[in-house]
Amino acid sequence: MLGTELKKLISWIQPEVCFGCNKCVSGCPVAEIHNEYRPNRIVRLAYLGFVDELIESGVIWYCTQCLKCSERCPMEVYPASVIVALRNIASKRGMTHEAWVKMAKNVSIYGKILPDMGVMSKDRKLLKREDLGLVTPAISRDLIRRLFKESKLPIDIGE
Ligand code: SF4
Ligand code: SF4
Repeated sequence: MLGTELKKLISWIQPEVCFGCNKCVSGCPVAEIHNEYRPNRIVRLAYLGFVDELIESGVIWYCTQCLKCSERCPMEVYPASVIVALRNIASKRGMTHEAWVKMAKNVSIYGKILPDMGVMSKDRKLLKREDLGLVTPAISRDLIRRLFKESKLPIDIGE
């Protein structure tokens, strides 16, 4: 039942053994605030072949990848990995969520997903890394360029 594209990415998982115990749901921080979000539902829908629908709904991008669902699952279904596989398929189709594209752009500029925000000193001065004598790690532009190319992210970081 699992589509070929998805099966290739998660050949080591057997989503069909999920027996609906809901242990993954009870630990999921997203399910706690979003009634419609259920890791086991995503797994079941993926197993039934609703890959396009899952990608188009955007639900796969809600996951924080905290891995609680995968740790709690007694059947080793690994919902978090199923979600990553779905994201990979979405990205290959050029459907990476805009927030992820933005984070990737930040990686190309700052070497991390968020720009430096600094810290506030006791006398309320905003201190940056260089104020604290911290070295900013060098970014390998070749590596970043290759990663973007392979992930098909719509980002041009130039030469
Ligand atoms: S990895 Fe994602 S789906 Fe699993 S518990 Fe964490 S937020 Fe929920
Ligand atoms: S914990 Fe595992 S077996 Fe239980 S509902 Fe979630 S995916 Fe299915």
